[in-house]
Amino acid sequence: MLTKVIEQSKIDHFTKWLDRADKVVIVSHVGPDGDAIGSSLGLWHFLDSQGKTANVIVPNAFPDFLKWMPGSKDVLLYDRYKEFADKLIAEADVICCLDFNAIHRIEAMGSAVLASSAKKILIDHHLYPEDFCKIIISHPEISSTSELIFRLICRMGYFSDISKEGAECIYTGMMTDTGGFTYNSNNREIYFIISELLSKGIDKDDIYRKVYNTYSESRLRLMGYVLSQMKVYPGHHAALISLTKEEQGRFDYIRGDSEGFVNIPLSIKDVVFSCFLREDTEKPMIKISLRSVGTFPCNRLAAEFFNGGGHLNASGGEFYGTMEEARDVFEQALERYKPLLCAKG
Ligand code: 5GP
Ligand code: MN
Repeated sequence: MLTKVIEQSKIDHFTKWLDRADKVVIVSHVGPDGDAIGSSLGLWHFLDSQGKTANVIVPNAFPDFLKWMPGSKDVLLYDRYKEFADKLIAEADVICCLDFNAIHRIEAMGSAVLASSAKKILIDHHLYPEDFCKIIISHPEISSTSELIFRLICRMGYFSDISKEGAECIYTGMMTDTGGFTYNSNNREIYFIISELLSKGIDKDDIYRKVYNTYSESRLRLMGYVLSQMKVYPGHHAALISLTKEEQGRFDYIRGDSEGFVNIPLSIKDVVFSCFLREDTEKPMIKISLRSVGTFPCNRLAAEFFNGGGHLNASGGEFYGTMEEARDVFEQALERYKPLLCAKG
């Protein structure tokens, strides 16, 4: 049995909305990851089973390793089909905002969502949700939005309507947001949910292979290169990797190729904090990814130095400047956080 995480009043409220709704739009964050697409499609399959007209819209493209997911071909990319997406958003009865806590995380879609007269619900697990939805289901203690979607559907009384396809999407989100159940994954109820998803006929081992073992040769060579250039800061228990635009060009980089790189330095003994700096190909900025193990607060450092945020162990931000300047700021941050980085436990 599962603990009742989501408040009953919110479940009742959302159920009432759905009873009267026909058109539902599901939106998720820019640079959609496994949990963004997994939770969105998990909810989409469920709404489809209830006879609703549902559409998933995300700001921009998602990585190839998620394209096997059932329903992913119908995910609408806002940067390609803005007009059509704007119409769906404006005409929706209900808009479900999944896996983001701040309206700026859906970038250009934000104004259309805010302007829509649709009833809005936020379902998310990031800290400090902004107040732009009538119903806010925000649970930072839950490791993925996909898990929240599972809990929501069950609490509404529709476990039996979760299809194998929907279960595959939910599992994918739970798996990717926990690094294959290697972090944020000590809640025993996660494994009860996995057991329930297996009862729907999903092949979890196959899902793992489809997500993690379908890379190109050039991606593996890029990984080798990036690691060969890695800088370790033994005095700070930290490591830094980076990737410039020029280097991306050398290795035929495509979006998603560096997914997961930031976790690798954490496999070094005594490294508790890892940073990945990647020069963006679209905007003149350096995208920052931060990961930690234990109690080191990546999100505090991201907010203080890189105009970002996120979770304790996984955060990110942006830096407008050169790679050299970004490295300098990172090293200043290391100095500032040295006491925490070197704290035992
Ligand atoms: P990633 O390193 O995978 O891009 O991001 C990890 C987590 O950091 C995301 O799930 C999100 O919570 C947070 N994050 C990433 N980039 C940003 C950003 O620019 N601003 C904020 N506030 N959070 C971010
Ligand atoms: Mn998530």
